[in-house]
Amino acid sequence: MGLYENIRDIAKINGYSVNRLEQELGFARSSINKFNKNTPSVEKLQQIANKLNVTVDDLMKERGLTTCQECGLMYDSSHPDDIKTHYKQHSAWLKAVEKFGELYCYYPEREKIKAENRNISHNVSLPINKRMEAQIKVLHCLFSRSVESNRYDLRHVPFDTYVAMMLGNKSYRKNLEDDLFQALSNKYGTMPGISNGTVYNIPESKISTITKKDERDIKKDLESLREKLASKELGPAAFDGEDIPEDDTDLFLGQVELMLRRLKAKNKEKYTPDKYKK
Ligand SMILES: [Zn+2]
Repeated sequence: MGLYENIRDIAKINGYSVNRLEQELGFARSSINKFNKNTPSVEKLQQIANKLNVTVDDLMKERGLTTCQECGLMYDSSHPDDIKTHYKQHSAWLKAVEKFGELYCYYPEREKIKAENRNISHNVSLPINKRMEAQIKVLHCLFSRSVESNRYDLRHVPFDTYVAMMLGNKSYRKNLEDDLFQALSNKYGTMPGISNGTVYNIPESKISTITKKDERDIKKDLESLREKLASKELGPAAFDGEDIPEDDTDLFLGQVELMLRRLKAKNKEKYTPDKYKK
């Protein structure tokens, strides 16, 4: 028995035909009939489950379909290929968590956290700190969805940047009370970058091409430069005849660092084949 048959039978018990289910949920005609071939989104299944008063797991039970409660992927645990696919996604998820911190990718859990905190954050009788904390949780859910939709790509912007970009997005801003918006933008600032408000896709041009090895090289260069400056090995003459005052060393090194980064990225544009050129 497949997913379609499961839904058909559960619908029948609840007095629904598959047709009526499709109509009332606004799905395309005969789309549920094709679920065995085209696995539907979890969102769609959740809508059906809500309508039929069951859980998504109930809909999928017979078929060995499970949703990983961590990475959120729905897969058929009786199917070796699917298990492999899940394994790949799960590893990507783990790396993303390591980089971005906690992510809510299990759809039912995420929706619950989002709904609860959304209510708290818009309850103007509560103190602003509490409302802000709740809205940050909502943003965490949106951020998780964004990272997930980008297939756990590690080039996704970090949470703080994402929040600043959301605050710079008109349609997200519209839903916030003024004091809440103010409190959040005091903490995160605002930034352009998100145009549709939900998913952040990294523009190709903004992808940093600096690798971990480059990072190490830059660090090494800067350390050796700092030592040379400290021991005056480079001598005052090396810098326009002026000694660099102790306080300015960091500033100077900061500038050198920026320059080294730009150089590394530029060299890649020139010499690295296809991989960076897409
Ligand atoms: Zn998983």
